[in-house]
Amino acid sequence: MIIKPRGTMDIMPEDTPLWQYVEEKAREISNTHGFGEIRFPTFEQTELFARGVGDTTDVVQKEMYTFFDKDNRSMTLRPEGTASIARSIVENGRCSDAMPLKLYYLISCFRYEKPASGRYREFYQYGVEMYGSESAASDASVIALADSYVKSLGITDYSLEINSIGCKECRPHYKKALTDYYTANYDTLCDTCKTRLKTNPLRILDCKNPECAHLAKDAPKTLDYLCENCTSHMKTVEDSLKSMGITYKVDTGIVRGLDYYTRTVFEIIGPGEPDKDGNVRRLALGGGGRYDGLVEEIGGPKLPGVGFAMGLSRLIIALQMSGKELPSKKKPVLYIASLGTNAQIQALGIVNKLRNAGIYAECDLVGRSLKAQMKYADKIGAEFTAIIGDNELENGKAILKNMATSEQTEVEIKALADFFKNR
Ligand code: AMP
Repeated sequence: MIIKPRGTMDIMPEDTPLWQYVEEKAREISNTHGFGEIRFPTFEQTELFARGVGDTTDVVQKEMYTFFDKDNRSMTLRPEGTASIARSIVENGRCSDAMPLKLYYLISCFRYEKPASGRYREFYQYGVEMYGSESAASDASVIALADSYVKSLGITDYSLEINSIGCKECRPHYKKALTDYYTANYDTLCDTCKTRLKTNPLRILDCKNPECAHLAKDAPKTLDYLCENCTSHMKTVEDSLKSMGITYKVDTGIVRGLDYYTRTVFEIIGPGEPDKDGNVRRLALGGGGRYDGLVEEIGGPKLPGVGFAMGLSRLIIALQMSGKELPSKKKPVLYIASLGTNAQIQALGIVNKLRNAGIYAECDLVGRSLKAQMKYADKIGAEFTAIIGDNELENGKAILKNMATSEQTEVEIKALADFFKNR
């Protein structure tokens, strides 16, 4: 048997209502906050991600699905959305639009990671991008949108954690302090972090290796190295969040995995799940921050930006853990069981009329016996059933049975749509 590639998922009809729920909420909230949907290619020239995401990041170094097309051009399945959107707004001449430019997306992304709970090789993201404002107010309003979205889904067990990783001016000082600290502890670092020390020392702070995580506790803190402008930016972000009544924590360990971030970075951390050794691993539901140099980096004008991306499968895990009643597949309002060929044909006509009136009805399509039809109606959770035979067709009336209460009501067949609409 051919099976799906490792780290991908099949989402079955009983589960899609939950996916539709998180997607619909994302569309709803994006619209309320004035963000328009952008759609863009699933694959791009590899160079876009190497330059945009950063060629020293794990994503670019280890996780990209890169292939050569028939013209021998290197292409990559998008590992995230931000670099593509930056490319798209430059290519479509949107950098001179009235600012801020507010965009959202719902996409699949591809990363060759080790699959685990909540970690896939093809996964789904809801993200937003706001371009054209350097102000701390735009950071705060994007963070507020992320926070409102998670709340609107009904997830309460999460924390919003923010940090600043500085700018071109102050980050080199911080990088130097970090490099000095880790050089002094070189032997304790894992092999990957020994390389990171040369290529991207900030990433060591994110390492899950217990020795590296232990070292990170005493490592120099970004906030102590910020320049005056970055300090004041961070303060205004915090003041704005407070003024909006948003609960957050400052976590100097947040550095984010992608190179394009400047100043504000944040994550929304969800509930924990014990791994096979019983250690609770809290899932990052989403994360984002400011990326003022990205558009220039990929060849566009200087255009600051701020945004976030949420992992839909992680939101779904958090919803499932919340104990909240979850959306499920729609059940038919009416199942019409039929007796005989003529009744089956007539039932199809009635059902079609009801469906055209926006009422979900079902009837027999497989030639079941009456008993089997009733059993099936019960199995699919029909709210009402009606049995149609020659008598009912002659009288033009059917008896509706409420499956929960067994109450019976006689209704004219031609008035069925009105009956269901008006009840
Ligand atoms: P990132 O683009 O790495 O900042 O990721 C943003 C969000 O996407 C994360 O917080 C996760 O919720 C989600 N995410 C990232 N990688 C994966 C993955 N491999 N599988 C599922 N969700 C992911």
